[in-house]
Parts: sequence; structure tokens; C-alpha cells
Amino acid sequence: MPWSPPKPCAHPGCRALVPRGERWCQEHRREVRREADAARSPERRKLYNSAAWKKVRRAFILAHPVCSTPGCGMPVTDVDHVVPVEQGGAPLSWSNLDGKCHACHSRKTASRDGGFGNPRRGGGGSDL
Ligand SMILES: [Zn+2]
Ligand SMILES: [Zn+2]
Repeated sequence: MPWSPPKPCAHPGCRALVPRGERWCQEHRREVRREADAARSPERRKLYNSAAWKKVRRAFILAHPVCSTPGCGMPVTDVDHVVPVEQGGAPLSWSNLDGKCHACHSRKTASRDGGFGNPRRGGGGSDL
């Protein structure tokens, strides 16, 4: 029967094996995505490193502990902006925040980055 051996994580030095179709282990997938996100916009990076954002994010999760996807019911791990900050969304306003579990957030990010005609690599200097 067909069997594909798992490959090692694409992160240099990481020996974790990843299933077929994935490039990074779970840990590095998160890291790579966060770096790609931050690299897209210096303002975003500044925002996500700011004490003000961390405070707002923590308070928002306390007030909205459950994923906003109807029927999901998972705890919130990611706070996202409804209108992206680089598109003029208010960075620290609760009305522009959306809390999702990791799975739902990944799905949303994937559809935003890969679909609807958005270029996947928007002029970044990726060496991959
Ligand atoms: Zn790894
Ligand atoms: Zn969810």
C-alpha cells in the first residue's frame, strides 16, 4: 500500500517530522506565519509588540473567551482585526476585534491571504 514517509520540518536545525503536505512542524508553522504577518507591515509589528495592544488583547479575550465562529465553542487563542489595520481599521478598538480559536483563525488567514485575488507574496523578500 502507498506510504509517504514524513519529512523533517523546513526550519533550519529543526528535526521534527511533519506530515505530507506540510512544510513546518506545528511550532514553526506558527512562528513562520507570525513572522510573515509581521513582515507584511511595520505598523502591524509595532502594534503587536506594543504594551497597549497586549493590554487590549488580554482584556478582549477575558470578555470574549469563546471563539466567535458560530457553533465552534473553542477558547479564543487569537485576536484579529475585522478591518485590517493597514486598511484603516482601528487597532485598539474592541468593535474592530474578533476573537477566534487557533483553527478558525488559521482558516480565516488562509482564505484572506490565498484567495480573493490577494497576492500570496505581496512583494516580500522571501527567500523560500
Ligand atoms: Zn520545526
Ligand atoms: Zn473556532
